[in-house]
Parts: sequence; C-alpha cells; structure tokens
Amino acid sequence: MRQVDHFIVGGAGGGSGRKHQIWNPSTGEVQAEVALGDAALLDKAVATAMKVQPEWAATNPQKRARVMFKFKELIEANMQELAELLSSEHGKVIDDAKGDVQRGLEVIEFACGIPQALKGEYTQGAGPGIDVYSMRQPLGIGAGITPFNFPAMIPMWMFGMAIAAGNAFVLKPSERDPSVPIRLAELFLEAGAPEGLLQVVHGDKEMVDAILDHPDIPAISFVGSSDIAHYIYQRGAQNAKRVQAFGGAKNHGIVMPDADLDQVVNDLAGAAFGSAGERCMALPVVVPVGEDTAERLKEKLIPAIHALRVGVSTDPEAHYGPVVTPEHKARVEQWITTAEEEGAEIVIDGRGFSLQGHEKGFFIGPTLIDRVTPQMKSYQEEIFGPVLQIVRANDFEDAVRLPSEHQYGNGVAIFTRNGHAAREFASRVNVGMVGINVPIPVPVSYHSFGGWKRSGFGDIDQYGMEGLKFWTKHKKITQRWPDGGGDGSNAFVIPTMG
Ligand code: NAD
Repeated sequence: MRQVDHFIVGGAGGGSGRKHQIWNPSTGEVQAEVALGDAALLDKAVATAMKVQPEWAATNPQKRARVMFKFKELIEANMQELAELLSSEHGKVIDDAKGDVQRGLEVIEFACGIPQALKGEYTQGAGPGIDVYSMRQPLGIGAGITPFNFPAMIPMWMFGMAIAAGNAFVLKPSERDPSVPIRLAELFLEAGAPEGLLQVVHGDKEMVDAILDHPDIPAISFVGSSDIAHYIYQRGAQNAKRVQAFGGAKNHGIVMPDADLDQVVNDLAGAAFGSAGERCMALPVVVPVGEDTAERLKEKLIPAIHALRVGVSTDPEAHYGPVVTPEHKARVEQWITTAEEEGAEIVIDGRGFSLQGHEKGFFIGPTLIDRVTPQMKSYQEEIFGPVLQIVRANDFEDAVRLPSEHQYGNGVAIFTRNGHAAREFASRVNVGMVGINVPIPVPVSYHSFGGWKRSGFGDIDQYGMEGLKFWTKHKKITQRWPDGGGDGSNAFVIPTMG
C-alpha cells in the first residue's frame, strides 16, 4: 500500500508509530496510509527551520519573489497531476480540484509582489531633523493547520504569504488527504527554495498539540471546524502565540422577490451542491423573501436538483462526487434524518443513494429540505454535505436578521435587482463576507478572507495585506542624525515634535 510520509529534512523517521487510512471516496477503498507524527518529530522539523530561516529572511525580497514565481510556473505545469491526486483523495471532481489549486495559486501570484507589499512607510522631517519610518519583519517560524476540504488552496494561502514575508513554515495538513500538500512542498523545493524552509508534518491531535505548545513557533494559522478552531485559539493564546483560527459556516442566500430566479437557481445548484457541499463558502441555506418568492423558487429548484449528476470524481460529466469518508456520509445522512424528525419537509431525499458500479463509494444524493425554521438544530449546525435547506422569511428585515443572528458568520449572499436593498443588506448584515448576486464571495487574493463570530477567532484575516500583517512584526523607527551641536531640548520632558 502507498505510504505517505512527512516532508522534513533528514528523512522522517520516528513519529508516533500510528498511521491513518486514506480513502478513495469514489471507490470506497483505502488507497494509502499516512504516518502520524509526534512532538519529537516536530522538534526535528523546527530545529531545521530555525537554521534556514535567518538566511532566507536576509535574502532580498526580489530574490524571494523569484522563488515564488518559479513555484507558480511549476504548479501550472503540474496542474493536471495535482488535480487528479487531489480528486482521488478528496472526492471532488477534477475541474473543481483544479479550482482548488488555482485559488491557492492566486495567493502565490500575490506573493510574487512581495517587494512592493513589504515596502514600509516613511516620514521625512517628522520633527526637527527627525525622520520616522516603519518596516515589517518576519516572525521566524509559522505553522499552518489545515482542513481536508481545500488541500491545495488553504495551505498556499498560509505558506505563500508567510514564506514570502521571510518566515520558515511548518504545515500540518489534514490527515484525510495529505498527498497534495506533500507535492506542493516538493515543487517548492524544485522552485529553488532552501531545503527545510517549507516542511510538512502529518498528524492528528497529538501533533496539533505539539505545535500549539512549541516554544519556537510564534504564530499559528488554523482552518477547520469551529470547536477545534476555538480550542486552537485558546491554547495558542495561552502560550502567548499569535493565532488566527477560522471555523465552520452556514452561509445564507437571500432571494428577494425581484431576483432573476433562473440565475439564482443556477447559482444555488453550484453553490449548494458543488464539491458535495463540502465548502466553507457553500450556500446550504436559501432564504426566499415572501411566500410567493418561496413557491416560485421551489418550483424551479426541484427540476434543477433532479437534473444534477452525481458521479465518481473522474467523471467529466459529474456535477459533484462523493463526500470524503464513510463517517462523514453517515453524519450528513443523520442530519437529514434530524431535520425530518424536527418537522421539516424533505422535498428531495439523498439518503441511501447508490451509484451503479460504485456501490461502496461515499455518495449522497442531492437533498432539498423545506419548511426549516431557526429553532431547528439542523439549521443551527453545519451539515457540510449536498443538502440545501429553505428557510422562508416574511420580509427584508427577517432576511437580514437570520444570518446576522446565526452562530456562524462566514459568508452570505443576496440576490436582487434592487441596488438600495443590496447596499442596505451589505452594510447591516453581521457576517464577514458578502456577495451581491455572487453566490460564493471568496475575496480575490489581493483582498483578504475571513469570517466573523464562530467562523473566525482572532482579528487578522487570511492572505492579501492582512495575511502579510499576520506573518510579520511591525517595527517603528524614529531617527535623528545630529549635526554635533545638540538640539537644546529638555531631556526630562516627554519628546514632542514641537
Ligand atoms: P477539522 O476541524 O476536523 O480538522 C481541521 C484540522 O484540525 C486538521 O488538520 C485536523 O487534523 C485537526 N484536528 C482534528 N481534530 C483535532 C483535535 N481534536 N485537536 C486538534 N486538532 C484537530 O475540519 P475538517 O473536517 O478537516 O474541515 C471541515 C471544516 O473546516 C468545516 O467545518 C468547514 O466549514 C471548515 N472550513 C472553514 C474554512 C474557513 O475559512 N472558515 C475553510 C475551509 C473549511
């Protein structure tokens, strides 16, 4: 069986001795095993990172950018191979896997501009003969802990920015699909990065705790489910680390009576069911405003959902593939049952779906649930599967309140032709990322990504200039070059600029 090992200098060796199975979700078979690391293995990786980081930080930013540029070219050259590997472990269809790689690549493209982004601020003559300037310096070693659902994009969000800024990086990817992160690290080395600058350690809670407690790792970026994000934030902060921890989501799509319903249905089909709903920026809740909108929308949604094609991840005609593990399939199906028990109407039921010729795969049919209310547990919690819930709103105020009061605040979208309603909604809704007639409003790489409430702990976003802020320390310098005569000021009074 294929073995997936750590990517650290001097060979993996050691580790906890434990292994984790990697499924092929389309066939339902175990295709590989990944070694799980421990604190001793992490120590080894960190010791190497500490050796290489100072020289990397001293390498001028233009040269660092060249490595990023070469890395970008290598990813492009290897796109098909990366997408196939990703798809075989995750289950998302190949084109969607390419999108996963591409959205990470865009952050690498932004990181190619690191010389410009790192330029500090300068004020000449802030006082008599005094200049003030600032610079951003790397923290040392950054660590990233990433989820299964974007095994290429999210690692690149993190290490792309951290390394361009002059840090070394230790990545702990999801143990469910760890092979693409390893390939990325290999390509980064091939791009000319010093050995040990980007290392990958695998593991579960044991390794994560070792990262959280490691005295030589000053900053941790986490993306995953909310309870774990909260835990990471608390334990990391207790150890006086800088932490950003992004969690789960339950994004709402508000449909105003004047929306173009054909377009909305098309957008919802992709945003609710694409990647089998395993996206933190999926749209699993649709909120039609008014009974008439709800009925018109439902009438159009039903045939569109019946027309969806579920297939193996290599099927070019499939709209989406299997979910990631058998446990996850069982959990999603249980949520559909919970919704039913809570009194919601199961309009289209994806439970018990079986794909001919692939009966052991972890497939779930597309599911539509109507008459969902805010009191239901199945509404309050994240399902993370191909399930769309309809929550009917009486009016616009109701529609603003629903996502604003939900425990998660990652993304939200409004579909309307009314500019005033859209503007009002965007400014009032208590959610971090808003789409206006855009179902999946993931900001481009030169803006930044981050949800609110239980979708994001910490106050600095991912990538863009926010990412740069997260991975650097801000130094402020006030300088005076006296001409030898002294400035005649009273040294016992707090200095002012006169
Ligand atoms: P997860 O929380 O199970 O795992 C995330 C990471 O935490 C993995 O590396 C895993 O090994 C580690 N981990 C798991 N259990 C742990 C424990 N008990 N202690 C310490 N570490 C532990 O998440 P997942 O299932 O891989 O990913 C799906 C979740 O991630 C969903 O909730 C989704 O919404 C969320 N997500 C959020 C964003 C965002 O930007 N907000 C993006 C993608 C995914």
